[in-house]
Amino acid sequence: MNVATTIQQVREQVRAWKKAGLTVGLVPTMGYLHEGHASLIKTSVSRCDRTVVSVFVNPTQFGPNEDLESYPRDFDRDSALCESLNADLVFHPEVSEMYAEDAATYVEILSDMPKQLCGKTRPIHFRGVCTVVAKLFNIVQPDRAFFGEKDAQQLAVIRRMVRDMSYGIEIVGCPIVREPDGLAKSSRNTYLNAEERKAALCLSRAVGLGKRMVLDGERDARCVVNAMTNLIMQEPLAKIDYVQAVDGVTMEPTDDIYQDVLVAMAVYIGKTRLIDNFSVRL
Ligand code: AMP
Repeated sequence: MNVATTIQQVREQVRAWKKAGLTVGLVPTMGYLHEGHASLIKTSVSRCDRTVVSVFVNPTQFGPNEDLESYPRDFDRDSALCESLNADLVFHPEVSEMYAEDAATYVEILSDMPKQLCGKTRPIHFRGVCTVVAKLFNIVQPDRAFFGEKDAQQLAVIRRMVRDMSYGIEIVGCPIVREPDGLAKSSRNTYLNAEERKAALCLSRAVGLGKRMVLDGERDARCVVNAMTNLIMQEPLAKIDYVQAVDGVTMEPTDDIYQDVLVAMAVYIGKTRLIDNFSVRL
């Protein structure tokens, strides 16, 4: 497995692969890899001839008071994991390689979509995500790119960007990977102390409750959201940012439950903001 730190190194490698007629998969990550990332890498390795994993903590998707500086990093462990999963190339650029000091061009969806859900408390987040993913698409030119359903709004935003900008790239969504007790795996789980780690289970419990209600025939999204909200509010360490049902494609709020509705939440456990969700499958 190779590690590239420059855009040119990636371009040269990918050019050689394409010349040999090989398909290329891309797994964009911010590193501190866990089994959630591993499942994306495994899916790419199984579906593409070559897999590129990018490890880059992207500054443009963090707000001024967010955790850019403290975001966990361990590149040696990440590259060992990528190698063990048979990834072919890890792209690990410095910030200066990705953004010129006077970079001023962004990719931004101008509809309400990136303003819903996480966009309310993170107004510049999806502009940063779209910009860095567009750059990675231009650098790697993959046939397919793999994203987790854990970040469901991100996945919807990327699908929209790909459609609107005519990227000829297949976007593959991969299921949420959870800890044995239900907590969705996240690099940010490392911020939780023992007490908070227990309290964080209220998110996956709320997801379980919502799913069961829908399975039992509940079609009023407000009832589902209220029940989930009440469950989370019983946890003293939890502070709800949002619990909401939205259309799975447009992210517009909905009062009805139908196929592919996304029920998503963001909850602070102490200072740590965690997300979880489920998509309605009828
Ligand atoms: P991140 O490093 O947090 O930016 O995540 C990189 C990719 O891994 C994104 O597409 C995430 O949705 C995905 N991902 C993160 N956690 C999980 C998880 N628990 N299950 C599935 N995918 C995940």
